[in-house]
Amino acid sequence: MYDVVIIGGGPAGLTAALYNARARLKVLVLEQKKLGGQIVITHEIANFPGSVKGEGAETSGPELIERMKEQATNFGAEIEVGKQVETIDFDGKVKTITCHDGTTYETRSVICANGAHPRQIGCPGEQELSGKGVSYCATCDGALFEDMEVYVIGGGNSAVEEALFLTRFARKVTIIQNLSFLTADAIAIEEAKANDKIDYIFDSVVDKIEGDGMVESMTIRNTKTNQTTEFKADEDDGLFGVFIFIGNIPNTDLYQGVLPMDEQGYLTTDDAMKTDIAGVFAAGDLRQKTLRQVVTAAGDGATAAYSAQKYVATLK
Ligand SMILES: Cc1cc2nc3c(=O)[nH]c(=O)nc-3n(C[C@H](O)[C@H](O)[C@H](O)COP(=O)(O)OP(=O)(O)OC[C@H]3O[C@@H](n4cnc5c(N)ncnc54)[C@H](O)[C@@H]3O)c2cc1C
Repeated sequence: MYDVVIIGGGPAGLTAALYNARARLKVLVLEQKKLGGQIVITHEIANFPGSVKGEGAETSGPELIERMKEQATNFGAEIEVGKQVETIDFDGKVKTITCHDGTTYETRSVICANGAHPRQIGCPGEQELSGKGVSYCATCDGALFEDMEVYVIGGGNSAVEEALFLTRFARKVTIIQNLSFLTADAIAIEEAKANDKIDYIFDSVVDKIEGDGMVESMTIRNTKTNQTTEFKADEDDGLFGVFIFIGNIPNTDLYQGVLPMDEQGYLTTDDAMKTDIAGVFAAGDLRQKTLRQVVTAAGDGATAAYSAQKYVATLK
């Protein structure tokens, strides 16, 4: 019997694990894939307090996660990876969690920290060419486009920051944004504007991506004029990259009909991260909130852990 089982091993889950383990609770983190969540696909975290020491001394997502993991396990948290939680039973004082491989865990409390995943465009060719020129991770795939052309879809922080990163490899990076302006932070926009490898196409959406095995062409449409434009791969390159950063979808299917959520599927909690069910808390990007970042995920994780700790104390 665990005191706390945390579903999801991203920044929210790992922070919750650290706090609960440090409070001497019996804690288990269940992670379906690789530990770390969305942040492991980024090369540099410049906005997590303490993550940048000086010019050029950036911390990468995987480095930050490795340290979070070490800190949590040093205090006694257990972590299991490759464990996808498939069913939950939150009724009563003992909650039951079952993974895809049939393993079942009993716990007094649960912290839901399943995070979110990248939104897809949903256009023809996107899925078929995913991993073949279409990518959702510049850190993973940027180097494949050395001296080639890449298109970045989106205009928020992730899109602009990842576009800047891609200029390290690509000879030209074109940002395609559906609005007539970028929505990233002023500092990111300034940096991008100062980079002459980056070009912009506004008021445009992707209609289709095509290619025989690799991305060879893409058709975009201007939403104001309805005019379409087809981009073809340079003959010498034979392909180009399409990096998609258009927002996230919460990983909350598991909680449909069980926990309260808003119309977009984000879980709703109070300030103490409590859901409507006693002993069940939520933290991180899967929550309805204003800012989805590592620092706010970690903050949620700490608060949820504190609430879980107080709840467990009432049972003993
Ligand atoms: C490209 C990119 C760049 C970013 N850059 C920055 C940045 O520079 N600075 C910053 O602060 N933020 C950045 N972010 C945002 C940041 O990564 C997120 O806000 C943060 O990771 C949220 O943490 P989380 O723990 O709530 O969720 P996640 O990171 O999404 O982690 C959730 C974890 O839960 C697991 N999970 C889901 N369902 C299950 C299940 N059923 N069973 C078991 N495990 C499950 C997932 O596999 C995942 O590992 C970036 C995001 C992206 C996509």
